[in-house]
Amino acid sequence: METNPHYSPENIGFSTSLRVGRKAKPEGTIVNIEGVKIGGTEVVIIAGPCAVESREQLFETARAVRNGGAKILRGGAFKPRSSPYNFQGLGEDGLKLLGQIRKEIGLPVVTEVMDTRQVELVSSYADMLQIGSRNMQNYPLLKEVGMSRKPILLKRGMMATIEEFLLAAEYILNQGNDQVILCERGIRTFETSTRNTLDLSAVPMLKRLSHLPVIVDPSHGTGLRWMVPAMAKAAVAVGADGLIIEVHYKPEEAICDGHQSLDHNDFINLMTDLKKIAEAVNREISLPDPS
Ligand code: PEP
Ligand code: MN
Repeated sequence: METNPHYSPENIGFSTSLRVGRKAKPEGTIVNIEGVKIGGTEVVIIAGPCAVESREQLFETARAVRNGGAKILRGGAFKPRSSPYNFQGLGEDGLKLLGQIRKEIGLPVVTEVMDTRQVELVSSYADMLQIGSRNMQNYPLLKEVGMSRKPILLKRGMMATIEEFLLAAEYILNQGNDQVILCERGIRTFETSTRNTLDLSAVPMLKRLSHLPVIVDPSHGTGLRWMVPAMAKAAVAVGADGLIIEVHYKPEEAICDGHQSLDHNDFINLMTDLKKIAEAVNREISLPDPS
C-alpha cells in the first residue's frame, strides 16, 4: 500500500525520544487537579467566565456551571488583551475572588499566569495554571511553571505547529512537572468568518504523538456563541479528554468575550448533549442529580 509520507506523524520532525512522546508513557498521563482527573474515561468540562469581573458575576456563573456538571471553574484575573487600553483583569483582587468562590462552590479553579514574576502569587490561589496562546513560546515562563508543582493547562499558540506545541510542553516536563494538559484553541488561517480555525484534527494527532491529555476550547476556537455547542460536541466525538468553555451569567454585559460566551441555559442544554456524545464514543460525563 502506498502511504503519503507528508501526512505521517512520524515524519513531521517530531522525535519519539521526547518526554512528551507517547512512547515515554504508552498508557497515557492522567492529570489530577484536586481530585478531578483529566485523561481517564471521564470527559471533564471546565467552564466559567473569560475574566473575573465581580463577586456576583463569578459566584452566579460558578454556581450555574457547577450545577450544570462542570468539574473545574475557569476565570482570568490577569488578561492578555490585544489593546493595552482594554480591561486587563482584576489582578490580585480577581485571584482573591477565585480563592473565595472556589471554597464556596467547591470547584477547583484554573487561571492564567502571564509572567514569571507572578507564578508564585497565582499558584497561591489557583489549582491549575493556564499558559495562554500568546505565551506558548515564552520559554522562561514555561521553565518557571515547570518548576511549580501545579498542573499546567498549556494552550496552543495561534501560529504554532503541532511540533512546536509539543516542544513547548517538553520545556515544562523537562523541569520535572509532568502534569500538563494540552489545549487546542484554534489557529490563525486565512479564514475570517470565525475568530480562529479550530483545528480538531490536532486532537487525534496529539493523542497519537503524546501521552498528555488533550482538551479543546471551542469558545476561542470559533469566537461565535452559536457555533460553540456544535464544535464542543465535535471535539468530544474526536476524542478530547475535556473542554474549556466560556460561560457568563449575562453574556451581553460581559467586559470580555461576551460574544462567544454561553449563557447558563445554553450551557445546561449543551451538557446534556455532550453526555450522549461521550457515551457514543465510550467515554463518560457525569452530571449532578437535578435536585
Ligand atoms: C483565555 O482562555 O481566556 C484566553 C485568553 O485564551 P487564549 O490564550 O487561548 O487566547
Ligand atoms: Mn476569553
